[in-house]
Amino acid sequence: MTGSCTTAKPTRIGVLAYQGDVREHMATLEAIGVEAVRANKAEHLEGLAGLIIPGGESTTMGKLLTVFGLDEEIRARHRQGMAVFGTCAGLILMAKRIENSEQARLGLMDITAARNAFGRQIQSFETDIDAPAIGPEPMRGVFIRAPYISDVGEGVEVLARFNDRIVLARQGRLLAAAFHPELIGETRLHRYFVDIAASAP
Ligand code: GLN
Repeated sequence: MTGSCTTAKPTRIGVLAYQGDVREHMATLEAIGVEAVRANKAEHLEGLAGLIIPGGESTTMGKLLTVFGLDEEIRARHRQGMAVFGTCAGLILMAKRIENSEQARLGLMDITAARNAFGRQIQSFETDIDAPAIGPEPMRGVFIRAPYISDVGEGVEVLARFNDRIVLARQGRLLAAAFHPELIGETRLHRYFVDIAASAP
């Protein structure tokens, strides 16, 4: 069927490769049989069904996105249908609003992010998170100086809370997680994202 218009295109997912746990995201995608691409230039976005923005330091990543002009490219690709999944710092970069911060961002999703919101004593921890939309068993997530979502707009679906705080949300082809599923072999959230990315825009 090669060359036929009816052949389904393989789903390629990019991982923004400035800093953070790029390798772990790529390994998680490969573990579920999805082609993963390192993306740090405009041309790397070509043909991607989805893009993952990993954790790291959101102010640094936001500056790099602006300096290299990749922010505009990602916004344009998203308008054409590319799905975007941000974890931790990636969530912050996806938010339209960031509490007490004017830092550079993609600003794609109608959410407010609160940075480093889980307090100093418990900057990092691992926990179970109930997210029925993802699966009946709780997900395992690692929180590392994690943000949470303090407010959502009308089109945003809250998928999980932890201690009453929103830690997972979806808006159409946008998905944001406050925690890291990729560090502990949790693949279901990546599967969920790939299904969003592979569905018709
Ligand atoms: N606290 C970081 C920030 O605000 C995010 C931490 C992470 O991605 N693990 O950018």
